[in-house]
Amino acid sequence: MSVPVPTGLAPGAVLGILGGGQLARMLALAAADLGIRCHVFAPEPDSPAFDVAARHTVAEYEDEAALARFADGVDVVTYEFENVPAATAAFLGQRAPLHPGARALAVTQDRLSEKSFVDGLGLAVAPFRAVDSLADLEAAVAALGRPSILKTRRFGYDGKGQIKIAPGTDLADAYEAIGRFPAILEGYVPFEREVSVVAARGLDGAFAAFDVCENEHRDHILAFTRVPANLGRGAATTAIDAARRIGEALGYVGVFAVEMFVLGDGPAERVVVNEIAPRVHNSGHWTSEGAETSQFHQHVRAVCGFPLGSPASRGRIEMENLIGEAALRWREILGEPGAHLHLYGKRDARPGRKMGHVTRVWTDRS
Ligand code: AMP
Repeated sequence: MSVPVPTGLAPGAVLGILGGGQLARMLALAAADLGIRCHVFAPEPDSPAFDVAARHTVAEYEDEAALARFADGVDVVTYEFENVPAATAAFLGQRAPLHPGARALAVTQDRLSEKSFVDGLGLAVAPFRAVDSLADLEAAVAALGRPSILKTRRFGYDGKGQIKIAPGTDLADAYEAIGRFPAILEGYVPFEREVSVVAARGLDGAFAAFDVCENEHRDHILAFTRVPANLGRGAATTAIDAARRIGEALGYVGVFAVEMFVLGDGPAERVVVNEIAPRVHNSGHWTSEGAETSQFHQHVRAVCGFPLGSPASRGRIEMENLIGEAALRWREILGEPGAHLHLYGKRDARPGRKMGHVTRVWTDRS
């Protein structure tokens, strides 16, 4: 595989970030550590990343005049969310280096192309079928059985755009419930645990994975990430190897996350790939204090063509998401020895909204 030519950026360069949420905010903070200035482009005037970026633009992702001004003023463009419109990525990619590239976006924006891609690499995925009509759904359920999970191909996150097909579920109702959008049906994976591999690939093809982490969801939203994951060495190696192969096959540059299910225990333990996120990821937030290099610093290093940092963990780590009113506990958390609080600067603590997180690290000395 050919290796892209490094861009040769240096501190002082300007990084453009599409999207202005907490991921962009933490990327901009890390970029500042490395002497990189950020220009954040987002449609929402009160975007959390604007507070910490050297420049920002408030405009729609379809606004080509604003995109052109943005691209002309930055040295490299990255993004904090996978649903960047393909036309926006193509437009920007003609004017500035775009990392991760258009292929990573195209593959991961669509669950059918993503599952087919991972399957094509010979990695384990849940059995799946494309669903474009109620008749397709009936045939897919006949093939994969119940329970199974119907997911829209695009724009699903945090459990949105999906519905479980249980023994009593009416298929016409289920198809209505997901809006009759193009979908896939996945066989239900009876997993023991959910883990993810957050990894980086540099412009020179170097690969660095953080330790496999274990994720606990509540109401379909990530609640806790713990490191090390409760996973045998063989399965952990398989998981990291899967991430490496995905990164290589995509010609990927930057940080990405691969979410996986763990089935079985002991020698029977194995991992099944669920989803790829072509960006820094909530399950990598623990790296800010828990690893030698945070995922945010690592992503900035990768997209600027700098050497990757060490992903080594610093001990046993727990990351707790502060969802909605949980963030009102900020004073108590600040008083807790060893707790590292990160707040995203969002004003309304609406239910289900990610407001911040806390990292706790236990080293041999603590
Ligand atoms: P996703 O939107 O694909 O990340 O799925 C959200 C959550 O739904 C996952 O974290 C799992 O807890 C559950 N889930 C998704 N797909 C499956 C599956 N094929 N089998 C069992 N559980 C699943």
